[in-house]
Amino acid sequence: MPKKPTTENHCSFCGRPESQAQLMLTGLNGYICDSCIKQAAQMLKDLEHQRPSTYHSDKPIPTPQQIKDYLDQYVIGQEDAKRVLAVSVYNHYKRLKYFAEHKDDTNDVEIEKSNIIIVGETGTGKTLMARTIARMLDVPFCIADATTLTEAGYVGDDVENVLVRLLQAADYDVAAAERGIVFIDEIDKIARKGDNPSITRDVSGEGVQQAMLKLLEGAVVNVPPQGGRKHPEQPMIQVNTRNILFIAGGAFDGIERAIASRLKSNVIGYNGAQTREQIDQHNMLRYILPMDLKHFGLIPELVGRFPLLTHLNPLDRDALRRILTEPKNALTKQYQELFKMDGVTLEYDKGALDAIVDTAVEYKLGARGLRSIMENIMNDLMFDLPNKEEGSKVRITKKLALEQINKASINPTLKQ
Ligand code: ADP
Repeated sequence: MPKKPTTENHCSFCGRPESQAQLMLTGLNGYICDSCIKQAAQMLKDLEHQRPSTYHSDKPIPTPQQIKDYLDQYVIGQEDAKRVLAVSVYNHYKRLKYFAEHKDDTNDVEIEKSNIIIVGETGTGKTLMARTIARMLDVPFCIADATTLTEAGYVGDDVENVLVRLLQAADYDVAAAERGIVFIDEIDKIARKGDNPSITRDVSGEGVQQAMLKLLEGAVVNVPPQGGRKHPEQPMIQVNTRNILFIAGGAFDGIERAIASRLKSNVIGYNGAQTREQIDQHNMLRYILPMDLKHFGLIPELVGRFPLLTHLNPLDRDALRRILTEPKNALTKQYQELFKMDGVTLEYDKGALDAIVDTAVEYKLGARGLRSIMENIMNDLMFDLPNKEEGSKVRITKKLALEQINKASINPTLKQ
């Protein structure tokens, strides 16, 4: 008997019958199978990678105010730094747009990069700011620790490894990495030891600073894809750093003294007494100038590659209290969400929150300490959480908070 003609649909691209496909989409005049969809998706992705970096040229650039408003949702205080960062990022993206529009223009004006250095005590929000900006802009972001870097040929990481992290964050999409943001933490740790150029080699200081210049100014850098030391047979990925925004952060311990003595010598003389009175003795960092960074041991060329310099204020009790409850992802909100997943409502008494802040201040734990204190308070409660009835309420009272804190204060992690 002749076989009945099948009525099965076939992919209009590869001819695969529906029975052999995981998925078959039907269009107006044809069909496409899952394997052709995947291939097409890959082709699109490849095309995107080949496209030159024209990021944001079609999207409106966020204004400094919009950038600051976004930062305000996550970062408490630090008004000066937020404004400087907002303008820096705004200019950065204007610059990208400018390049995209003047690609073939040979006598265009060279708009320089707005790399930025943020000086502030540890735990005051340097990394948080850089991370928040990267999230807002949806660009690849990585954190590089300057302390691990050494001059090429010495034990440690070559500076190019900073870009390996960025490539990894961009899933090896070079075009995306080339418009990313790199946060270089602890830039103060590669300061030259002493003010005079040293006769002995300074492999983790001045040498690294010299090597870093190339990354910062915008050059095509050969990056070993998996990191580690370069060796001749290894294939390299070429990354152009021209449009990568570098944000450096450091505590620059002791720089206040240099600032103070500079201010002191400046105010001597006419009208000096009055000016001296106006100086905020508790926050010398607000008077920081590029020359102070040079004095600290950053080479002038490096300081010059960071045209913007700003500072973070130390966090006082009031700031810590706000950090605990106000940011969009504040710790108190995070625990409330965790409890909500078990159907339990979590509430905090004002006294409990004050006790948490007092403990952070007492043990000089700063904003980072808030988390370990909260963790200590919540741990027992969270252990029992699955046994709680749906719809029940848990209230963190001052008494409960203090009991848990006291129980934990024999724990060295809280005392550090
Ligand atoms: P730094 O890089 O200056 O050493 P971080 O940015 O890593 O400090 O801050 C540590 C943690 O403290 C952050 O994850 C954040 O939870 C909190 N924090 C610090 N400063 C602030 C701030 N100004 N606003 C909100 N949270 C902050």
